Amino acid sequence: MPCPHCRSEDIAHWGAAHGFPRYRCGSCSRTFNVLTKTPLARLRNKERWLTFVGTMVERKSIRKSAAACGVSAATSSRWHKRFLACSTAQRAKIIREVAAAFSNASALTAVSENVSAADLAWAKELLPVVLSWLV
Ligand SMILES: [Zn+2]
Repeated sequence: MPCPHCRSEDIAHWGAAHGFPRYRCGSCSRTFNVLTKTPLARLRNKERWLTFVGTMVERKSIRKSAAACGVSAATSSRWHKRFLACSTAQRAKIIREVAAAFSNASALTAVSENVSAADLAWAKELLPVVLSWLV
C-alpha cells in the first residue's frame, strides 16, 4: 500500500493505533493507516464495523443496523453513506483490516453490552461471504 499523502512506496510498519496497524512514510515522514484519506477516516466505534457490514450485506434498514451495532440511527446512516462512498478496492482492504483488528478475543470483551458475542460470531462467519461479495 503506497503512502496516501505522497504515493511513495517507501513505507515501514510503525506500531498500531486504535486497533489498526500504523505505517510511516520514508519520503514525507507522515504516518497513516488503512483508513487515512478514505471516507471512513476519523469515525468512531470501529470495533462495531464488522457487525455493521454484516447488516449491510443482509440489507437491513438503517434502524435495524443501528440496533444490531448499538449505535444511533444517525451514526448507522453516516456509516452507510461512508461505506458506500469507498471504492470497492478501498472497502475490501478496510474490511480485511477491520476483521484482523477486531475479530479476536480482546475485541469481544471491548464491545458494548448491546452487541452480544453471538452477533460478532455471526459477523465473523459471514466475513468470507462479505469479502467475496466485495472483490
Ligand atoms: Zn509519504
